[in-house]
Amino acid sequence: MQKGDKIYIAGHRGMVGGAIKRNLEKEGYTNIVTRTSGELDLRSQAAVQLFFEAEKPAYVFLAAAKVGGIMANNTYRAEFLYDNLMIETNIIHAAYTNGVKKLMFLGSSCIYPKLAPQPLKEDYLLTGTLEYTNEPYAIAKIAGIKLCEAYRDQYGCNFISAMPTNLYGVGDNYHPQNSHVLPALIRKFHEARENSAPAVTVWGSGKPMREFLYADDLAEACIYLMQHYSEKQLVNIGTGEDLTIKDLAELVKKVVGYTGEIVFDASKPDGTPRKLMDVSKLNGLGWKHHTTLEEGIKLAYGDFLAKHVTAAV
Ligand code: GDP
Repeated sequence: MQKGDKIYIAGHRGMVGGAIKRNLEKEGYTNIVTRTSGELDLRSQAAVQLFFEAEKPAYVFLAAAKVGGIMANNTYRAEFLYDNLMIETNIIHAAYTNGVKKLMFLGSSCIYPKLAPQPLKEDYLLTGTLEYTNEPYAIAKIAGIKLCEAYRDQYGCNFISAMPTNLYGVGDNYHPQNSHVLPALIRKFHEARENSAPAVTVWGSGKPMREFLYADDLAEACIYLMQHYSEKQLVNIGTGEDLTIKDLAELVKKVVGYTGEIVFDASKPDGTPRKLMDVSKLNGLGWKHHTTLEEGIKLAYGDFLAKHVTAAV
């Protein structure tokens, strides 16, 4: 990938696509193409074909997806399956028919079986039953991985897949119901501190374990893999370290500076008990994360304050 090559980032307004764009620009890439969802509906096969024919990108980061936390995944099951299947099928096929040199498809750690041994190795894919709450999203992402593999096998396309762990960072979604746990907790603790509320409610038992990667670290890893990795097998992207939701809540509480209580709402789902990535393959390829969880939460909280609090004043 040369600095002047035309690079299409699908999903540049999302947290991941935005971080990839920022990091590419920082590294001196000058020919980045983007479209907002208003300009290009990625679920439309005809529109995506026309876009690729007109722009002819050489490299594609496929970071566009319908995403959300445990409630959103479980509530909008049809949309999570349909939208994600359409987006990835249209882009991967158009990349093939328009001679894209290399494409990176981004998935998620939820593609692995619910009760797979931990940490999750790349070859555990399709060895067991998925977690029910995010099965539609996982099925769509598994289809994306298999599309990349099949287009490589049949047509010789250099399409690779990367599976990030749970992400957070600049430009995250802070919706009270539909967001992921980390941004949800930032918002809850912030609002509780502002309102002097006596307690913050955390969903589920607090016992599930999750791993978190700062989105700009992910972006760096994606660019690194685009430059250095061209194999068929997917690559996990994570930190290789996890913690309980209870410990995460304590950490967010500390960063935000809230002094009240934490209570758990057992009526809300826990989801997968644990999904810790095995990152030995990624580390072996020469990349390791560098933002610690506490540093990352401070940065994300700063972004939340700038965008969601200042904007409301
Ligand atoms: P998951 O990793 O796909 O399960 O998605 P989430 O990031 O939404 O949730 C991770 C875990 O955090 C689950 O066990 C949730 O029940 C728990 N959790 C605790 N409080 C919250 C909250 O306020 N929002 C969300 N989304 N999850 C929460």
